[in-house]
Amino acid sequence: MRLTFKYPVYPTQEEKRILEKWLVHLCDLQNSARHDRLVAYETEGTFVSLSDQQTLLRVARETYNDFREVPQDFQNHALRRNDKAFTAFRKRCKENAVKKGYPRYKKRVRSLTWSLRKYTKVVRKKTKDAEKQTIRVRENPIIETQFRHNRLRVPKLGQVKIRMHRPLQGDPKEVTIIKKASGWYAHISCEIPDTPKVEPTDAIAVDVGTTHYLTTSEGEKESNPRWYRKAEGLLRKHSKDLSRKKKGSQRWQKQHHKLALHHERTTNRRKDFIGKLVYKLYHHQKNNVLVAEGLGVSNIIQNKHLSKSIADASWGIFFKWCADIAERDGLHFHQVDPKNTSQTCSACGEKSQKKLSLAIRTFDCQFCGHAMDRDHNAAINILLRAACAHRGERWVTNLTETRNLSVDR
Ligand SMILES: [Zn+2]
Repeated sequence: MRLTFKYPVYPTQEEKRILEKWLVHLCDLQNSARHDRLVAYETEGTFVSLSDQQTLLRVARETYNDFREVPQDFQNHALRRNDKAFTAFRKRCKENAVKKGYPRYKKRVRSLTWSLRKYTKVVRKKTKDAEKQTIRVRENPIIETQFRHNRLRVPKLGQVKIRMHRPLQGDPKEVTIIKKASGWYAHISCEIPDTPKVEPTDAIAVDVGTTHYLTTSEGEKESNPRWYRKAEGLLRKHSKDLSRKKKGSQRWQKQHHKLALHHERTTNRRKDFIGKLVYKLYHHQKNNVLVAEGLGVSNIIQNKHLSKSIADASWGIFFKWCADIAERDGLHFHQVDPKNTSQTCSACGEKSQKKLSLAIRTFDCQFCGHAMDRDHNAAINILLRAACAHRGERWVTNLTETRNLSVDR
């Protein structure tokens, strides 16, 4: 599997200037590649492939000086990114999706990527009669120093300061340099061997919500930090200040940066919370199976009353990270059908006759009189469904016997 390590890099003023120039060039290249495909399709109905565009790029590099100044790897990756967008678009067309999403014109590009190649290295042994040996080695992007900062090798630029606050693992394959509001970062993608899956023993289920971020099947709750709502006040102030400045002026740019920084911090806070939460769920209570409901987040987000809270909660990231951490540490993550999890009694298995609105926080069963916290009830239902799936049984909502078998906690 692939793991990406993120480090801050500190280019000098001169290096920043060159990197920014390259970003502008790559943006133009990506847009023109997109434009070529658009024109070719509209006028002749033909399809321009990635390899066609790469051939054109080689010609352009021979002809124009400004093309030669930028490393070819960066340009190839920009073309590949464009190709990826078109492949995804064609896939959506084939599936006849509601939103086809034609690849958009990019206002700016923020990152440059290059691959690390393998090369042949000759190793000489110290004894006289030993033969020359050749081995295949991958380029190491990092040069270690005895100072606070190590150095990152960037093609055609030289060595840029990088702060290695944690060691790299595995075999580095690709490096991306990204410009953010708070500075420059290097993402190093490494290939690491797969972790074997552990035998599933202890399972926990979570039900996500907006009142509490999540409720586990043990009845524990995690409060919802509502980062966006907290950040809204300052956001409004920064935006207002920005709108009062002349667009493009020095002071406008300063304010624009402030606003971007504010957004980035909110994102960081959210990711920090989710990362710690996922770790806690797996490792603090020694659970090796995590079960959640399989929500189509983009569908519920269209509910206009809840959309802001749901977008703010970032359940998409939460579920993705649950799956990623499970893969990294050899644990299990399972998503079940979310239908009626909050409308069914976890004790007797009967579905509530009246639809429970979100405002009602306790679940009162009309059939067996079981009363329980709404989210806790849903979490137990999710766990029961997963137990059914684990035994290879099909889930039937009103099949009470199946449920009673699985309540062995
Ligand atoms: Zn009941």
